[in-house]
Amino acid sequence: MSLFETMGLKAEILGAIQELGFENPTPIQEQTIPFLLENDQDMVALAQTGTGKTAAFGLPIVQQFDCSVKAPQALILSPTRELALQIAKDLENFSKNIKGAKIATLYGGSDIRKQIKELESGAQIVVGTPGRTLDLIKRSKLKVNEIQWLVLDEADEMLSMGFKDDLDAILKDTPAEKQTLLFSATMPKEIVRIANTYMADPHEVTVGKRNTAAENVEHNYYLVHAKDRYIALKRVADINPNIYGIIFCRTRAETKDVADKLMQDGYNADALHGDLSQAQRDHVMSRFRSKHLQMLVATDVAARGLDVNELTHVINYNLPDDPEVYIHRSGRTGRAGKKGISITLIHMREKGKLRDVEKKMGKQFTKIPVPLGKEICEKQLFNLIDRVEKVEVNNEQIAEFMPVIYKKLAWLEREELIKHFVSVEFNRFLQYYENAKDINVDEAREKESMRGDRRRGGRDGRERGDRGSRERGGDRERGDRGRARRGNGGNMSRFFFSLGKKSGVNKRAIIDLINQNTPGKSIDIGSIEVLKGFSFFEIDSNYEKEITKAFKNARFRGQKVNIEVANKKK
Ligand code: AMP
Repeated sequence: MSLFETMGLKAEILGAIQELGFENPTPIQEQTIPFLLENDQDMVALAQTGTGKTAAFGLPIVQQFDCSVKAPQALILSPTRELALQIAKDLENFSKNIKGAKIATLYGGSDIRKQIKELESGAQIVVGTPGRTLDLIKRSKLKVNEIQWLVLDEADEMLSMGFKDDLDAILKDTPAEKQTLLFSATMPKEIVRIANTYMADPHEVTVGKRNTAAENVEHNYYLVHAKDRYIALKRVADINPNIYGIIFCRTRAETKDVADKLMQDGYNADALHGDLSQAQRDHVMSRFRSKHLQMLVATDVAARGLDVNELTHVINYNLPDDPEVYIHRSGRTGRAGKKGISITLIHMREKGKLRDVEKKMGKQFTKIPVPLGKEICEKQLFNLIDRVEKVEVNNEQIAEFMPVIYKKLAWLEREELIKHFVSVEFNRFLQYYENAKDINVDEAREKESMRGDRRRGGRDGRERGDRGSRERGGDRERGDRGRARRGNGGNMSRFFFSLGKKSGVNKRAIIDLINQNTPGKSIDIGSIEVLKGFSFFEIDSNYEKEITKAFKNARFRGQKVNIEVANKKK
């Protein structure tokens, strides 16, 4: 008898989850399912994506809703369209054996009439993003005044994406006696406020401590010069022929750049970033999910809705500014009991940042030497031989061609023949790595040369610090390439940004806000400085007017944001 059975779930549900391959509940499910089946107290759960939280709230709802009533009984709010679709799909799977169960999914950028029809057909469970959900409430197409369950999923993400006002407006329309379930990976002040305002004495559940990294993930880093970052990435891909991973970049421009280069170099990769249309994004994601793509190059924002369980690697092309972002990224591998590897490419001046991440996640990084050409060739060769050995031969289909093939190759001895087959695939690697240099950084020498710089007085402590912070904010390598590409000779405009650390702003939040407020644009971002009460950021001067306009109504966690040009910089 599985633990799910002892929880008292209906046979229809047990059958459905068995088909999904759920054998035993995950820790959060163990804590929430029995509780939610027996209590109508509100609940706050600290849990990250990948912990099984959809089933943690979904199974009790599917068990308890009344399928004979054709009106919304549960409303589930999620920050992104992708997550909403994922939740709806999971709920459909859980309730597939329950007759009359209907689920409506509401999200922007898609035909509203179809969604209205779904609601009118009597959906009992509604999953939506806050903006579209509020829109349908205002149009009186969605009635939430009789719901019994309200779920706020990834509540912290909803707030950081600026949905605070929408959430407040939706929550106001819901009945007081419903059960509210709030799921969040972090507990910023604003979530505590929501819990205090809209929930009554919530039961608290914590799964996996905040800031701890997934247990079975190895954290490795490669130390290279900034200019060798891409070459290092290729070597990571080549030494792991069966890689299935996400490569995280800081900006859309970098994402495009890295993905374009990988594709040109013959890798099975593509990009996922905010400039793609929804249809393009869906296409890339589905190719990745079905493993037709081996490597997905993505920004953090774009990868948010993508939930894939079997990633072998997460690669940080750059270290993110916020250690928690690193923890979140690396937690995408090593799931469902499998081993995962998180690789970070850094240069000398980023070692301090690496230590910050180590402190926050309570785990050490391991330095791994960048593989040399010979090692890569060896690995590729044995992978090829392995494939040759294990490939399934379809005797029937190739039978008719074999006589001609045997005849053509008859002049080759067995050993010679093997060499020929191997070379067809392998020459590409041999050629590429024939004269490949060792790109590992000699740390002792680098340290010495950094000390020398200081002694010569070429850069005093402050100047070095400045440079360090620019690299942290804007990344020198990216900046250099950006300048070479830009037609205006690399002018950057420095903007004053009216909020700072006090309001919860960090560098990632600023990058996200710029991306969100300039959809479809690829704007180079330079250094970002976050101070206590305000901040500064640099962007390509060509976009000065556009960004000023785009930020007219911008909000961060519900607070209005003002920006103005501070000065221009060459
Ligand atoms: P979630 O955190 O809800 O996004 O779930 C993460 C992944 O774990 C999803 O792919 C689920 O299908 C899967 N999952 C959830 N619960 C279980 C379980 N009890 N056993 C196995 N897989 C599960």
